[in-house]
Amino acid sequence: MATNNSYVSQGMQTTAIHAGAEPDSATHASSPSIVMASSFVVKDATTPFSPENVEEQEAFFYTREGNPTVQRLEKKLAALENAEACAAFGSGMAAISALMFYLLKPDDHVIMSDVAYVGAAELMKGLVPSLGIKVTRVDTTDLTAVQNAVLPETKLIHIETPCNPIVRLTDIKSIVDIACAAGAKVSVDSTFATPVATRPIELGVDFVIHSLSKYLCGHGDAIGGAVIGSRNEISNLRDLVIHLGGVISPFNAWLIMRGITTLPIRMKAHEDNALKVARFLEEHPKVKRVIYPGLPSHPQYELAKQQMRNFSGMIAFQTSEPLSIAQAFAKHLKTIHYAVSLGHQCSLIYYVPTDEILQTSFALTEAQVNSYRSYAGDGIFRFSVGLEDAEDICKDLDLSIAKS
Ligand SMILES: *Cc1c(COP(=O)(O)O)cnc(C)c1O
Repeated sequence: MATNNSYVSQGMQTTAIHAGAEPDSATHASSPSIVMASSFVVKDATTPFSPENVEEQEAFFYTREGNPTVQRLEKKLAALENAEACAAFGSGMAAISALMFYLLKPDDHVIMSDVAYVGAAELMKGLVPSLGIKVTRVDTTDLTAVQNAVLPETKLIHIETPCNPIVRLTDIKSIVDIACAAGAKVSVDSTFATPVATRPIELGVDFVIHSLSKYLCGHGDAIGGAVIGSRNEISNLRDLVIHLGGVISPFNAWLIMRGITTLPIRMKAHEDNALKVARFLEEHPKVKRVIYPGLPSHPQYELAKQQMRNFSGMIAFQTSEPLSIAQAFAKHLKTIHYAVSLGHQCSLIYYVPTDEILQTSFALTEAQVNSYRSYAGDGIFRFSVGLEDAEDICKDLDLSIAKS
């Protein structure tokens, strides 16, 4: 896909700060203001509403159709992904569901990673097939299986890399090759990777999805989502979004934009901390297996080095007696929060029992279940390593495990 981005020639930290943050033309304010207005005064009664007018900032009408603060966030995200355009949403799930509604019609077929964020997995197991759309869940690390799943009506291959919760990777370039040959599009949920690690558009992907609630916001205080792609596709998608209505609040857009200004610096710190914590866990007598793309023990370490410029801060690990350790974590952790979500400044850990998640969220074949179990055992801890001092994180884990 053609990219149209003046930010490519500069470093990512400069882009993270400056893209979409041009001084306000009216006030010359050096940092972006929040425009909370729901309506905009129309100067010429004959100006028709059009997404193009909004995109060109010629006329805003109503914040569901476009908002100056949200537009700044969209510009920043497109620049970071080296893409032409972005549409922001009220959550990551709003972004995923809008993309599915945009691309898929009854009798179309979609191939999706068998293991994915539970909300996306449940959407593709429930509502999407109920609309007459065929969904095939495939272990996307197995490229032959992906190839074999292609049908004449396959419109989309949707992958998540690294995937939630087991931090397994998918080879983006190979998936793009399969999709190109099949005439299908590719979307990548890049929430765990962030644009600091991987820019899927540069690998030929059509759509990148982010839950902005995670690393992009980075501070655990705003929920948002985004779909990023070509100007033409995003403009068409936006026409639909106006009717689906899952828009982001300008205040949340502003918080997320503020968070993004330090994204490359934070990701470096998350990676440094995660590597230290992963090595500590590998040595811990109660820990059976650690899955982290920055460790040579990750089964896809070679792919990780090739596809990820930063290994991010997400670790999955198995322990002996996981239930009593989960209880001890919930009761005794002080620095780390026993809570869902990820990518915050604060470390977050949560236990994901295998049987339960297989039942509620994934509809897998026996081979896929075995593959999931090879990563997760009977249950895994999903650990988002935060920005506290690594020594304090390790000590917190160690003391709590000792009380299990
Ligand atoms: C959290 C998450 C989502 C959903 O995002 P929300 O902002 O919570 O709706 C989607 N994909 C991945 C990989 C996630 O981790």
